[in-house]
Amino acid sequence: THFGFRTVPEESKEALVRGVFDSVASSYDLMNDAMSFGVHRLWKDSFVSLLRPGSSGPMRCIDVAGGTGDIAFRILDHARETHGDRETRVDVVDINGEMLKEGHERFKKTMYHNTPQVAFIEANAQALPPETFPDNTYDIYTIAFGIRNVTSIVDVLREAHRVLKPGGTFACLEFNKVTNPLIAQLYDQYSFSVIPLLGTILAGDHASYQYLVESIRRFPSQGDFARMISNAGFAVGGDIEGDGCAWRDLWGGIACIHTGVKL
Ligand code: SAM
Repeated sequence: THFGFRTVPEESKEALVRGVFDSVASSYDLMNDAMSFGVHRLWKDSFVSLLRPGSSGPMRCIDVAGGTGDIAFRILDHARETHGDRETRVDVVDINGEMLKEGHERFKKTMYHNTPQVAFIEANAQALPPETFPDNTYDIYTIAFGIRNVTSIVDVLREAHRVLKPGGTFACLEFNKVTNPLIAQLYDQYSFSVIPLLGTILAGDHASYQYLVESIRRFPSQGDFARMISNAGFAVGGDIEGDGCAWRDLWGGIACIHTGVKL
């Protein structure tokens, strides 16, 4: 084992993850840009345009593990810029109050601040409180670079299915398995040496970024994850683009978009 995190028992994973994001919250956006050379922005843009928020009237969206609100911001911009829609709403949900606080600060500088279009709510994706998140509420459920951090992916998918309306869309953007062996080798070198080093230099925090790299390694392959989505009661791929694909690799699988429609 590279970093010793493998021995952490599952029940303490939540506490560990909370600690990781507590310590990186203020440097999170900077680190994202540095580690991915800004590419995460393009991936997030593709992710949101694929979902076409606002295309069929105002939508209720939930962005889980929403952190500092990158996806929420894009959803609202897309709805407004492409469809003239100022009524689509996004609930940004995260287990970590520090990340949400950063997000709230960011939104203060935008036109969405103090409107019903955005709300920040602290909650665990594995057990969304039904009082706040009733069944059949949302048109779109997004989770970007969040699901690999949770203790139980199955629980998260079950909750996603519960809070979505029938016909609603589940969409996940996550680091996945690189399929090209040469890219895979370069990527491994990069992620195991450069990322923790950048973590140390830019964020003064080596261990948290080691954890992030390790969590990418352990995430299921594209096909295995698609099967989990299907088992949770979704039609994988759905009719998002009419091509029926269960997932779309970005950059040879470094990242990947999975979608599903609630049956
Ligand atoms: N979605 C944002 C983005 O793409 O920039 C943030 C991604 S960040 C890598 C992962 C986020 O998942 C963190 O903000 C973390 O607090 C959150 N998280 C981890 N476990 C969670 C859980 N069980 N429930 C809700 N959020 C969780």
